[in-house]
Amino acid sequence: MVRRMSLIYFRHGRRDQMKVALTFDDGPNPPRTDQVIEILNSRGARGTFFVLGKWVERWPEAFMRIIEGGHAVGNHSYLHQAHLGDFDRAEAAIGNLLGRPTQFLRAHYFNFFTCLYSPVALAPAMKIVDADVNPADYAKTDPEAIVAATLHDPALAGGSIIDLHDSAESDDDALRLARPLSMIEALPAIVDGLQARGFELVGLDEMELVDPVEWRPDGRGAFASAAVRSMIENLGG
Ligand SMILES: [Zn+2]
Repeated sequence: MVRRMSLIYFRHGRRDQMKVALTFDDGPNPPRTDQVIEILNSRGARGTFFVLGKWVERWPEAFMRIIEGGHAVGNHSYLHQAHLGDFDRAEAAIGNLLGRPTQFLRAHYFNFFTCLYSPVALAPAMKIVDADVNPADYAKTDPEAIVAATLHDPALAGGSIIDLHDSAESDDDALRLARPLSMIEALPAIVDGLQARGFELVGLDEMELVDPVEWRPDGRGAFASAAVRSMIENLGG
């Protein structure tokens, strides 16, 4: 197994360019993802969708509408759990439709320890991408609070990567459809507000990522929990 004890990830792009990347996690999620695409496309904005392999397999047409809409995609694991091979399984599902490897990967819950066990995550051409603006939209029901948390985040600047969610990892259909509603209501004002400040909304494939962060597992940080540690160690290999 490919394995090393440190990882490089990125939190933002060049600060001297007026580019910002909106990223959407946990989809595709029809019809919510389509609503996001419509808002972005009506405003000349691009986004990057960090999709889950299990949803790509369930809704391949919804995944293809992201691509056909002109947006970028990345690998956000298959089940959104700490399973060995979760990124690799997702990559098979995504690559099958995309016709090429993904360039970007986001660790679920930003738990980078899962990447240490993934050949896909550790591939030299793969960029692991965090975010520097985290409005926690999934935990907010007031659209105005999501707009404010995004546009008033002190970290917001050229090169910022904003983390939003157009779906959920849950198998509960009602929850998955309901969770992004507030974000979708907030999104037009977020896009308009960013563009009014002169930011160009680009895909991650148009942003030069800089200031790589080196992540090394420590006693606690290498694994999400003692239970996960024992699970992974018992998988062997
Ligand atoms: Zn996620």
